[in-house]
Amino acid sequence: MQYHHSLVWFRRDLRDFDHAALYHALKTSQQVHCVFVFDTEILDALQNKSDRRVEFIWESVQELKQALQQHGGDLLVKHGKASEIIPQLAQALKVDAVFVNHDYEPSAIARDAKVKTTLAQIDFHSFKDQVIFEKDEILNLSGKPYRVFTPYRNAVVKQLDDDALKAYPVDCHIQHLAKSQPSALPSLQDIGFAQTNLKHMHLPTGMSGGKALLEDFTSRISQYKTARDFPAVKGVSYLSTHLRFGTVSIRHLARIAREIDNPGADVWLNELIWRDFYFQILHHNPQIAAGHTFNPQFNDLNFPNNQAYFDAWCAGQTGYPLVDAAMCQINQTGYMHNRLRMIVASFLVKDLLIDWRWGERYFAEHLIDFDFSANNGGWQWAASTGCDAQPWFRIFNPITQSQRFDLQGKFIRKYIPALNHCNDKEIHQPWQMSAAQQKNRQLWIGKDYPAPIVDHASQRLLALDLYKTASNSD
Ligand SMILES: Cc1cc2nc3c(=O)[nH]c(=O)nc-3n(C[C@H](O)[C@H](O)[C@H](O)COP(=O)(O)OP(=O)(O)OC[C@H]3O[C@@H](n4cnc5c(N)ncnc54)[C@H](O)[C@@H]3O)c2cc1C
Repeated sequence: MQYHHSLVWFRRDLRDFDHAALYHALKTSQQVHCVFVFDTEILDALQNKSDRRVEFIWESVQELKQALQQHGGDLLVKHGKASEIIPQLAQALKVDAVFVNHDYEPSAIARDAKVKTTLAQIDFHSFKDQVIFEKDEILNLSGKPYRVFTPYRNAVVKQLDDDALKAYPVDCHIQHLAKSQPSALPSLQDIGFAQTNLKHMHLPTGMSGGKALLEDFTSRISQYKTARDFPAVKGVSYLSTHLRFGTVSIRHLARIAREIDNPGADVWLNELIWRDFYFQILHHNPQIAAGHTFNPQFNDLNFPNNQAYFDAWCAGQTGYPLVDAAMCQINQTGYMHNRLRMIVASFLVKDLLIDWRWGERYFAEHLIDFDFSANNGGWQWAASTGCDAQPWFRIFNPITQSQRFDLQGKFIRKYIPALNHCNDKEIHQPWQMSAAQQKNRQLWIGKDYPAPIVDHASQRLLALDLYKTASNSD
């Protein structure tokens, strides 16, 4: 099919290279217009009007707009209901087709279906772009989706050839971008949001930010296998927000991991495959987006849900230093290290006995890299309700986790200055310090830093009972 005019609608793919929808539009059309919509159907639901994600998107959209202008085109930037704006714009520009990349979340699928219907005679094309493999591309020998990661990963690796990771050569057809007068970019304030502390964080935005982080990470990727579990060490890539908003290409990252081919790069490739794994879980189990557990046996666990415990967890005031430091990290930066996500999730569910959905929602509101499928997958893993999850009887000990992964309390000290003067042993369980030690350190437990709100050993037994009851009830 050849078109005169077409429209590329950018969503979570804010880049001008290796982009499936942009490539196909440019290849098949004489004139390609580009648009991004700050969608009020998403933004209106955000309670906090100072949101790092919106600012990250705004900065990245600005860079994409400049890049497209340098190629002779432009990016129209709109604010309103995308489901109405896109058909209206398609009509106004007299385009023959609209091009997008697939989105796998049920609300986005419904939105796209509505747009496609409203477009009526105008073609609507959607492509795989944000994952390596999708939907039914990786199935087991019985033709069913995988429920366990390792065999899924092995099947992925078998199919992971040059073809699967081939880049879309957007540049070859870039001359088809429609020439137009540069349009205005509404400011962050125009769309109802205020600036955050994003500029002071080490998270550069846009394609240039993704490129810089990737270059930095590839220089230390060989240490990833050993360094990735220690939150005080710069061991991970910090690319999750760029993957979320498509300022990097997943195919490019996977190609790099394959080419480097050392133990660090292999483990990192595994993590990228976990990301795909959770996307395909969502595709095959859309009920998880309505709050259901993957494993129905644990859908109605009888959590006591103590509100005061939850508030203490959110505020980083549980009295367990590594848990509290991790919560300070998410509250101050919007990011949390993966090891800490596992620890605080386990602590919320199995120490505080609070429904994992409460924590999932808190992360959804606060994480700058929030992605429904990975977040839900991570929470259901920790709560033992998911697929290939932590077995329910395996419960993290927040003290030994702290001793193991933050031995010298470096991470704790960064986020909880009150504990600065504790020695490396005391810092993991400061409530054990005697009155004399507390006086020495000028740190009064219960005043300068909270006493533990629960006792791990006894809460663990309660958690085991709760899960045992549910697992026996079938
Ligand atoms: C409770 C919980 C909630 C989580 N919520 C999210 C979320 O909302 N968004 C999100 O992107 N990740 C989430 N994760 C996964 C993981 O913690 C983050 O992807 C990672 O910490 C991001 O840091 P990084 O980019 O430096 O990761 P790296 O270690 O450099 O990994 C590279 C990339 O692989 C992917 N990845 C790594 N680990 C996982 C994983 N376990 N599951 C799926 N993908 C993974 C991410 O895209 C990540 O950017 C969650 C994990 C848990 C346990």
